[in-house]
Amino acid sequence: MEWRDQAVCNGADTEIFFDNHRRKLALSYCKVCPVTAECLQAAMAEEDTPDIGSHRNRGLRNGVRGGLLAEQRWVLAYPEESAVIKAREVIKNRARRERERLERMSA
Ligand code: SF4
Repeated sequence: MEWRDQAVCNGADTEIFFDNHRRKLALSYCKVCPVTAECLQAAMAEEDTPDIGSHRNRGLRNGVRGGLLAEQRWVLAYPEESAVIKAREVIKNRARRERERLERMSA
Protein backbone atom coordinates (compact mmCIF):
# COMPACT_ATOMS: atom_id res chain seq x y z
CA MET A 1 0.00 0.00 0.00
CA GLU A 2 1.27 3.45 -0.95
CA TRP A 3 1.70 5.92 1.94
CA ARG A 4 -0.62 8.36 0.17
CA ASP A 5 -3.46 5.86 0.58
CA GLN A 6 -3.23 6.30 4.35
CA ALA A 7 -3.21 10.09 4.26
CA VAL A 8 -5.84 11.73 6.44
CA CYS A 9 -6.28 14.42 3.79
CA ASN A 10 -7.42 11.91 1.16
CA GLY A 11 -10.71 13.20 -0.17
CA ALA A 12 -10.41 16.51 1.68
CA ASP A 13 -10.60 19.85 -0.07
CA THR A 14 -6.94 20.29 -1.04
CA GLU A 15 -7.41 24.05 -1.35
CA ILE A 16 -7.23 24.36 2.43
CA PHE A 17 -3.58 23.30 2.28
CA PHE A 18 -2.78 26.29 0.08
CA ASP A 19 -5.01 28.91 1.69
CA ASN A 20 -3.20 30.97 4.32
CA HIS A 21 -6.49 31.77 6.03
CA ARG A 22 -7.24 28.10 6.56
CA ARG A 23 -3.82 26.72 7.36
CA LYS A 24 -4.80 25.92 10.95
CA LEU A 25 -7.42 23.59 9.56
CA ALA A 26 -4.87 22.06 7.20
CA LEU A 27 -2.41 21.58 10.06
CA SER A 28 -5.13 19.88 12.11
CA TYR A 29 -5.31 17.19 9.41
CA CYS A 30 -1.54 16.72 9.52
CA LYS A 31 -1.53 16.54 13.30
CA VAL A 32 -3.46 13.27 13.24
CA CYS A 33 -2.08 11.92 9.99
CA PRO A 34 -0.20 8.59 10.26
CA VAL A 35 2.05 9.39 7.28
CA THR A 36 3.35 12.83 8.20
CA ALA A 37 6.99 11.71 7.99
CA GLU A 38 6.54 10.19 4.54
CA CYS A 39 4.63 13.24 3.34
CA LEU A 40 7.29 15.62 4.63
CA GLN A 41 10.06 13.53 3.09
CA ALA A 42 8.30 13.59 -0.29
CA ALA A 43 7.73 17.34 -0.07
CA MET A 44 11.35 18.02 0.83
CA ALA A 45 12.56 15.86 -2.05
CA GLU A 46 10.22 17.49 -4.57
CA GLU A 47 11.08 20.97 -3.43
CA ASP A 48 14.81 20.38 -3.61
CA THR A 49 15.02 19.80 -7.34
CA PRO A 50 16.58 22.11 -9.89
CA ASP A 51 13.33 21.95 -11.94
CA ILE A 52 11.75 24.29 -9.47
CA GLY A 53 14.32 26.83 -10.55
CA SER A 54 15.75 28.74 -7.66
CA HIS A 55 14.90 26.03 -5.15
CA ARG A 56 16.42 28.05 -2.34
CA ASN A 57 13.77 30.68 -2.85
CA ARG A 58 11.28 30.44 0.00
CA GLY A 59 8.54 31.72 -2.27
CA LEU A 60 8.63 28.66 -4.47
CA ARG A 61 7.56 26.44 -1.63
CA ASN A 62 3.86 26.47 -1.20
CA GLY A 63 1.25 25.20 1.17
CA VAL A 64 1.11 22.89 4.16
CA ARG A 65 2.81 19.54 3.60
CA GLY A 66 3.98 16.98 6.08
CA GLY A 67 2.70 19.05 8.97
CA LEU A 68 4.87 22.04 8.12
CA LEU A 69 4.28 25.39 6.47
CA ALA A 70 6.27 26.25 3.35
CA GLU A 71 8.53 28.58 5.30
CA GLN A 72 9.19 25.94 7.97
CA ARG A 73 10.22 23.46 5.27
CA TRP A 74 12.58 26.04 3.81
CA VAL A 75 14.19 26.55 7.25
CA LEU A 76 14.51 22.78 7.59
CA ALA A 77 16.14 22.51 4.17
CA TYR A 78 18.47 25.49 4.55
CA PRO A 79 19.13 26.14 8.24
CA GLU A 80 22.29 28.15 7.57
CA GLU A 81 20.63 30.56 5.16
CA SER A 82 17.73 31.01 7.53
CA ALA A 83 20.13 31.79 10.40
CA VAL A 84 21.85 34.44 8.25
CA ILE A 85 18.51 36.00 7.33
CA LYS A 86 17.45 36.05 10.98
CA ALA A 87 20.76 37.65 12.01
CA ARG A 88 20.31 40.33 9.32
CA GLU A 89 16.80 41.06 10.60
CA VAL A 90 18.09 41.38 14.18
CA ILE A 91 20.83 43.80 13.08
CA LYS A 92 18.38 45.80 10.96
CA ASN A 93 15.92 46.08 13.86
CA ARG A 94 18.66 47.14 16.26
CA ALA A 95 19.82 49.80 13.80
CA ARG A 96 16.25 51.05 13.40
CA ARG A 97 15.70 51.23 17.16
CA GLU A 98 19.02 53.08 17.59
CA ARG A 99 18.07 55.55 14.81
CA GLU A 100 14.69 56.15 16.48
CA ARG A 101 16.38 56.63 19.86
CA LEU A 102 18.77 59.21 18.38
CA GLU A 103 15.86 60.98 16.66
CA ARG A 104 13.98 61.18 19.95
CA MET A 105 17.08 62.57 21.69
CA SER A 106 17.56 65.28 19.07
CA ALA A 107 13.88 66.31 19.04
S1 SF4 B 1 0.84 15.04 6.55
FE1 SF4 B 1 -0.78 16.48 6.10
S2 SF4 B 1 -0.54 17.02 3.92
FE2 SF4 B 1 0.65 15.16 4.34
S3 SF4 B 1 -0.68 13.46 3.81
FE3 SF4 B 1 -0.95 13.84 5.99
S4 SF4 B 1 -2.66 15.26 6.17
FE4 SF4 B 1 -1.99 15.30 4.05
